[in-house]
Formats: sequence, C-alpha cells, structure tokens
Amino acid sequence: MSFRIRACGLSDVGLARSHNEDCFGIDAENRLAVVADGMGGHSHGEVASRIAVQSIHDTVSKTAHQETARQEDLLADGNGSKDEAHSRVLAEAMRRAHQQVLGAIREDGSLYGMGTTVVGFLLQGDKAVVAHVGDSRAYRVHRDRLELLTQDHTWVNEQVVAGFLSAEQARVHPLKNVITRALGGESDVIVDTREIVVEEGDLYLLCSDGLTTMLNDGDIHSAVDLDAGLESTCRSLVQAANSRGGLDNVTVVLVAIEKS
Ligand code: CA
Repeated sequence: MSFRIRACGLSDVGLARSHNEDCFGIDAENRLAVVADGMGGHSHGEVASRIAVQSIHDTVSKTAHQETARQEDLLADGNGSKDEAHSRVLAEAMRRAHQQVLGAIREDGSLYGMGTTVVGFLLQGDKAVVAHVGDSRAYRVHRDRLELLTQDHTWVNEQVVAGFLSAEQARVHPLKNVITRALGGESDVIVDTREIVVEEGDLYLLCSDGLTTMLNDGDIHSAVDLDAGLESTCRSLVQAANSRGGLDNVTVVLVAIEKS
C-alpha cells in the first residue's frame, strides 16, 4: 500500500522576540516536511534556517528525480524494485545542508556563529523517516496517543537520559537552550534517523522548541484536534504557546497520512 501526505505549517514570531529565526518547508509531491530553528546574532539565524530548509528540499527533490529515472530504467529492463531504503537520503540532505551553512559562513565572515537545528519527515511507500539535529522535535499521534519520536540534542536531555533531571525539570531548566548538535557547528554533524511504518490516519508534528518550552506533551496533545482540521490545529498550537508567554518563535508543521 502506498500513502501520500497532506500537510500544513505555521510559524509565528511569538510575543517576546523582534524577529522570527524559524523556517519551515513542505513539499507534498516529494512527501517531505522540514522545520529549522536558526541561531546567531543580528538575525543571522534566519539565514541559517532558510539555507537548511532550501538545501534539504533541493537534495531530496533532486534525488527523487534521479531515483525515478533509475527505476524507470530498471523497470524497462524487467528487473527493477521500488523498495529502496531512503532513510539515508534525508540524513545525507541534512549533512549537505550543514556544509551549505558552513560554506555561507566561509564566504561571509559576518555570518560566523550562525547555525540551525533541523527536523525532517520524508515518506516513501509505507515508511516514514524522521531525522533531526538539535532540539526541534517530531511527534506522532497514532491511534489518539501522542508519542515523541526524537531525542533533543541538548545538555538538559543528556541529564534526563542519565537520570539527573526529570523531563519536566529539563523543560524549564535555565540551561535548556544549550544545544549539543547543530547544522553550522562543528565540522562533522551526526544526524539521528528513525524509520516508522505509517498507517492511514496517523498525524506527524514537527516543531521548534518555541512550542515545547511553552507546552508539555499533555498540553500539545490537548491542542491537537483532528476533527478541526490541520490549519485550525496549527493555529491552536501556536495560540497555546503564546498564551503561556510566547517567549520564543514558534513553528509547527502537521503531516497527515492518507491513502494514495
Ligand atoms: Ca527556538
């Protein structure tokens, strides 16, 4: 069985920041969604997050076109298979995006210090890949249960994993913004990936930390109302984060899985 996506995204500056350094991209044709949360002074975070979203989109769409051409050749030969592993495609796209951010810094020294987190979703056949670097997150709502799919690359999350902090202590900790991995950081970047078999009716949520520092998982689940539709749910999530203070830019992308 194969599936398609229906997706919707919303990014909001929040109530405390002067500009929005988050960025998102949706490509329904290639079944791709990405959220990036930039950092760096003088609005350079905006530059980094845009480079990341654009670069990941370019790599995935180019690879998809090459793959289609290759599969057509194989099928014409009578020995093709469409069941190619694709988790490496999204991870490779993120590594290339990392190089693009580093390249932009090399070309313009004033951009030194910029970087971005990223989380992406890519569907092929009945398998989704979720990949991320940093503290932007992916969740799945599956049979009315909300499940966190990513582990933040943050100092506080390392303390949670080691048993020194609870998840709730980490969420409000003064050092919660200390990120241990980002695109544009150290010369090599390690991308975490996870493959999931999708089902019709599943909903995937990608978000920046402006959502998850304002809302806990229970709050997020409460704001997700599948009957209300994707656009309305995006607005509800952003409004809920702003109603708790909106201390950061907040970005959400919702991806619904449908039969194709
Ligand atoms: Ca943020």
